[in-house]
Amino acid sequence: MTESGSTSSITQPADLLEAARPLIELAIAEDIGPGDATSEAVLPADLFLHGRITAKGAGVVAGLPVAAAVFSRVDPNLRFVPHIQDGDSVAPGDLVAEVMGPGRGMLAAERIALNFLQHLSGIATFTRTFVDAVAGTRATILDTRKTHPGYRVLEKYAVRMGGGQNHRMSLHDMMLVKDNHIEAAGSITAAVERAHTAYPELPVEVEVKDLDELREVLGMAGVAGMETRPTGMAGAVDRVMLDNMDLEGMRAAVDLTAGRVGLEASGGVTLARVAAIAAAGVDYISIGALTHSAPVLDLSMLVSAPTGETGFDESVRSTATELAARIREAKAALGPALVILGHHYQRDDVIQFADFRGDSLKLARDAAACRDAQYIVFCGVHFMAETAAILAQPGQTVLLPDLEAGCYLAEMADLADVERAWTQLGTVMDVEREVVPVTYVNSAAALKAFCGQHGGVVCTSSNAQAVLAWALAQRPRVLFFPDQHLGRNTAKRAGIPLEEMALWDPQRSFGGHAAEALRHARVFLWRGWCDVHQRFLPEHVTAWRERRPGIRVMVHPECPMEVVDLADEAGSTAYIIRRVEESPPGTGWAIGTEFNLVNRLKNEHPEQFITSLRLSSGEAWGSGHGTPHCVGGLEGESEPSYCSTMNAITPEKLARVVEGLVQGEVINPVTVPPDVARWARVALERMLEVSA
Ligand code: SF4
Repeated sequence: MTESGSTSSITQPADLLEAARPLIELAIAEDIGPGDATSEAVLPADLFLHGRITAKGAGVVAGLPVAAAVFSRVDPNLRFVPHIQDGDSVAPGDLVAEVMGPGRGMLAAERIALNFLQHLSGIATFTRTFVDAVAGTRATILDTRKTHPGYRVLEKYAVRMGGGQNHRMSLHDMMLVKDNHIEAAGSITAAVERAHTAYPELPVEVEVKDLDELREVLGMAGVAGMETRPTGMAGAVDRVMLDNMDLEGMRAAVDLTAGRVGLEASGGVTLARVAAIAAAGVDYISIGALTHSAPVLDLSMLVSAPTGETGFDESVRSTATELAARIREAKAALGPALVILGHHYQRDDVIQFADFRGDSLKLARDAAACRDAQYIVFCGVHFMAETAAILAQPGQTVLLPDLEAGCYLAEMADLADVERAWTQLGTVMDVEREVVPVTYVNSAAALKAFCGQHGGVVCTSSNAQAVLAWALAQRPRVLFFPDQHLGRNTAKRAGIPLEEMALWDPQRSFGGHAAEALRHARVFLWRGWCDVHQRFLPEHVTAWRERRPGIRVMVHPECPMEVVDLADEAGSTAYIIRRVEESPPGTGWAIGTEFNLVNRLKNEHPEQFITSLRLSSGEAWGSGHGTPHCVGGLEGESEPSYCSTMNAITPEKLARVVEGLVQGEVINPVTVPPDVARWARVALERMLEVSA
């Protein structure tokens, strides 16, 4: 639970898109099916359109990443440019987003994208009205589990965008002892005791219907005088729900409780009544209507006829051109005070502004070498900007154009879980003498610091082999996190048999192993993965070889071992680029890594045949618009492997950050606490020495 009592932390964009993906597939199947008959009949196949999504009512927008994913799923050539961010307010007529690209795909996707956007914006708007109504009181507005089946993560995300907070996500992340449980157990005390005995780690909320029941809760161990008690402590009640109490009852409950435990008002909460409920002094007000009865926010999309040589509306072209001019102007104004770093996975319209481009290792070195720049703008994801901030000189500032651009893989290990693993391993072996912690650079700064403090090191996909060899020369075993695939592929290549590797599941005690199995292992592999690379499958390799004999398959070592084993070559991003650059004309490549990089290599090397391993037909590229048009495909596998968080960095966001610097405003700085930075630097410098 968070301090405020919210139990949800899984509504960041990567998780949002993960939850949205099956819903998008369902919506496309039910709405488009075999095709959009009207658009296919009326629109020429090569017609490009410019769509403008505007608000028809006032409200709060939520769901822009989902709308973007719908357009890109229906046709990867469609470009979605948001003009505001989720959580922003709009008035009637305000421009929300633009869409550019093939008309048929745009019109086929329109209704689905707007359905998501209107529904989620409606929830955000409705939530905001309640949040505004209780402004100035201590009450926090919460949602409930009354969400539409399958939509929970999306709808709870929308509540957050409206300024509310999430109650529990599901039945397994928090216990709520209600009247039926109490009836079955015989008393509140008995029910709470059973709850704590069965799941001592879970927070407990108890529903009471009157003051007598509240007195029983307050009389329990762990409540009286325990306002600072740790969440989930045995015997404690973390919150009390006042079920359908009238205002007088609520006021009496607040007096009786005197702040010893959080109080949540629930049941019959309307907009007309919510301010009075908040004034009664409760801490939380939960409202099912936020998600089950919110009216939609009316939005519409209008398209304009194509003009100009390219088929794009001139205004669209000028938007992109103007943005590019503004970024170049800001760069010129800042001169050597500004350096822009760009990861290879960035989109073309962003990476064109990078002074240095590279993979994680090269950019880490570039960041350390940028001694004269006052500002380092990192066009990449959050952990990369953190790494740059750790290696930065005193007085340098690192900025990330979108602070929400995280890394799905990096989020799969956190410090608490790694410390728990270290402690548990410590009961089986002498960890400080026997185990070297190795973190992939795709990890939070706190994990790099952990490695620094415990004799460990950072690695990238470029130097993982050298780092593993170094680590095993220090101590006999390695704890490798967070990417199991990179760890397994690297260890296997180093000659370590699979039987001497143990997959550490952070959700399970001792990673899910018996002590004897742990003692037998030389490499402990954290159970994490990159969603972009894990999508490459052995059948993709087989299919390409059947369709194009002689094609060489080259994959990134974040791909599963079965794919790496089948591939002709495996290597880091830098390796993949180098191999293409040094290959003769006519070479055929099916490459298993992030799509923007593959597409850029294809455009830069027309003398070779280059395709994504996930696409089924290399001949089916679109022309001249920087993204491929994929037709047909391995069944259900035609979606390109974009890194959605890398793609969150747009020219608009980059322009905002660099123009802010010109005006003396530092937008989206990335900082690392000094003690974390100090130890993280130790681990990073060990890596740079090992791979020098
Ligand atoms: S491609 Fe995978 S590992 Fe790389 S930033 Fe995206 S999610 Fe993270």
